[in-house]
Amino acid sequence: MTQNSPLWGIDLGGTKVEGVIMDPQNPNVPIHRLRRDTGSSHGYDHILSQIVGVIRDLEAASGLSHPSSIGIGTPGIVDPVTGSLKNSNTVCLNGRPLRDDLDTALKCSFVMANDANCFALAEAICGAGQNEEVVLGLILGTGVGSGIVINGKILNGHHGIAGEWGHNPLCGESRLCYCGRRGCVETVIAGPSLERFYQENGGDKVRLPEIVSRSQAGELRAIQTMELLRGKFAEAIAAVINILDPDVIVIGGGVGNVSLLYEKTTREEILRHLFNSEISTSIVRPQLGDSAGVFGAALLTA
Ligand SMILES: [Zn+2]
Repeated sequence: MTQNSPLWGIDLGGTKVEGVIMDPQNPNVPIHRLRRDTGSSHGYDHILSQIVGVIRDLEAASGLSHPSSIGIGTPGIVDPVTGSLKNSNTVCLNGRPLRDDLDTALKCSFVMANDANCFALAEAICGAGQNEEVVLGLILGTGVGSGIVINGKILNGHHGIAGEWGHNPLCGESRLCYCGRRGCVETVIAGPSLERFYQENGGDKVRLPEIVSRSQAGELRAIQTMELLRGKFAEAIAAVINILDPDVIVIGGGVGNVSLLYEKTTREEILRHLFNSEISTSIVRPQLGDSAGVFGAALLTA
């Protein structure tokens, strides 16, 4: 493939399979972008056929044959040795040789990465982390994770778990996490965890954006929920900065919309936990919106 060949990417989500053809010279404007329903409840073979279907749809739309290499972003973790998935919330994918099965079906090679890595790669190449050496792309939503991009390349790590800060333990926390451990970051600052804290603190069953607006209106228990987010996010991310020391942190996911994460007070709180006397890391919102996943998948083949 030449550097100017179009890049093809697939973003496999729990509800949709999205495909894109991108111009590497102008990555922010997709040449073609389309989607099908994932149909997760119909099982693994159905998901496989939907992915193949999206690639056939892209061929029809572009008049091109698919390239020799296609990027695919998936939920969960890609085992770097086997190419099979683990820890995916689309559970029928776990342990299945998705990459090999797609290679066989389409006679091309698939480059896989999880959705957090695709998010981080897209934001690093054509979003909020452009021209930075070390980019940490956080997913702060129903789950907590991240992707690490160094000089335009994803850092996967020895086990494929690089960036999984959502399952680091927090001091003084003991709630059981779905992963089987206790006190994980995700059990405290994921969106559902914050909503649960609000309810346990006497609030009613509302979603996070409502809690945010109630805190802005001065409601005490909503303010306490937001201060929990600030304090625990600061503690958790300081541990990550102590190890990785990224140039920029881009915060995606629903919780990433909460503006207090970008406030000076939060930076001061991070600094309290940091092995340094100042913090000049950029902590910013993403620029690519819901395009990051599929753009990042295509960029895997660049
Ligand atoms: Zn956990």
